[in-house]
Amino acid sequence: MKEVRFSKPFTQQEAIPDSGIARALDILKTGRLHRYNLLPDEVGDAAALEMEYAKWQEVDYCVACTSGGYAIQLALRICGVKPGDKVLANAYTLAPVPGAIHNVGGVPILVDIDDNYHIDCNDLAVKALESGAKYLLLSYMRGHIPDMDKLLTVCNTHDICLIEDCAHTMGAKWRGVRSGNFGKVAAFSTQTYKHMNSGEGGFLTTNDPELAARAVVSSGSYMLYGRHGAIPAEDVFQKVRLHAPNYSGRMDHMRAAILRAQLPGLENNLARWNQLYDRLHAHLSAMIGVMIPTRKQDEFYVGSSIQFRAEGLAASMIPDFVAGCAKRGVELKWFGDDEPKAFTSRYDSWRYIDDIPVLPTTLRVLEKTLDMRVPLTFSVDDCDVIATIIDDELSRLRVN
Ligand SMILES: *Cc1c(COP(=O)(O)O)cnc(C)c1O
Repeated sequence: MKEVRFSKPFTQQEAIPDSGIARALDILKTGRLHRYNLLPDEVGDAAALEMEYAKWQEVDYCVACTSGGYAIQLALRICGVKPGDKVLANAYTLAPVPGAIHNVGGVPILVDIDDNYHIDCNDLAVKALESGAKYLLLSYMRGHIPDMDKLLTVCNTHDICLIEDCAHTMGAKWRGVRSGNFGKVAAFSTQTYKHMNSGEGGFLTTNDPELAARAVVSSGSYMLYGRHGAIPAEDVFQKVRLHAPNYSGRMDHMRAAILRAQLPGLENNLARWNQLYDRLHAHLSAMIGVMIPTRKQDEFYVGSSIQFRAEGLAASMIPDFVAGCAKRGVELKWFGDDEPKAFTSRYDSWRYIDDIPVLPTTLRVLEKTLDMRVPLTFSVDDCDVIATIIDDELSRLRVN
């Protein structure tokens, strides 16, 4: 029998909309790429993007910057993290998250997760008490949103400032409120593999006028902060402008232009992602030896990737399973690997952190966790083919 294969690349994004390409070309022709290089009365694409994104995100202030990781660092700084300060963070995340904490001199305090890839709010309370940390950098890793009531209760009880890393939840909601609107400050990424694509890029959002002014000046505005799009009044800047250091990390007009062209289509893209995700979820849920968390009703997720556990396999078999799928064109990433590979690393490989804790649930859950990108260049039919291959390879290796 002929084996089914899949041939589309898992790293292929959709093209930038034509309007974005046209606008980018116009900008190239003007030569005015820098966000503060404007004609009199010209708004500029960077400022326009900030206004448009703030409106879409339902937030007062937005600063466009060079990357999501940069936005996280800036968020930590404006919230007041100083060298030596402890910052709580869920252990299941990607390397730029602890990296951002380290970059501002903070000390990551890693928190366990639960079986559904959420931060464990009980462990969060324990670690908050033990460490005395006053900051939580919450990463909605792979788009999984925890019970926000519980989480906010822990934050309030321990007087913790919440900073949200929404790299995987742009557009996601908890009980109708957009992810990013729960904490003091939020960070978003527009790097190629996220929900909007400018190669590299990010946003910082907040409703706090003073923090917004600090973020603008520190993002590298010099005294040209008035050219930004979604900012507080001049008197707020007067208070902070000489006290906020310039940590140069601005977005330019080219990237802003291609993001502006994508924003009107974002909502529709979220629905398209979820069609693919829901199809894959249905297939995976029905497979023997696969454990896939059911998503909470309160959560409106964006299924730009999918995670499942190969519970039917011994951990030692997982590399064979991954290799078997890869041979047939299905690219899975294994979060249980001792050795960090490509974008994927487990928390115990971040050796610059002193006293890396043993987090039993994180280790158990990740041991058999497989992670798959779901790019919008795939169709629902592609999801059927992918699922067939996963099921075949699983059956081949399953013990029972
Ligand atoms: C991508 C990502 C970041 C960093 O974003 P960049 O724009 O690549 O710097 C931060 N956190 C998570 C969870 C991410 O996936």
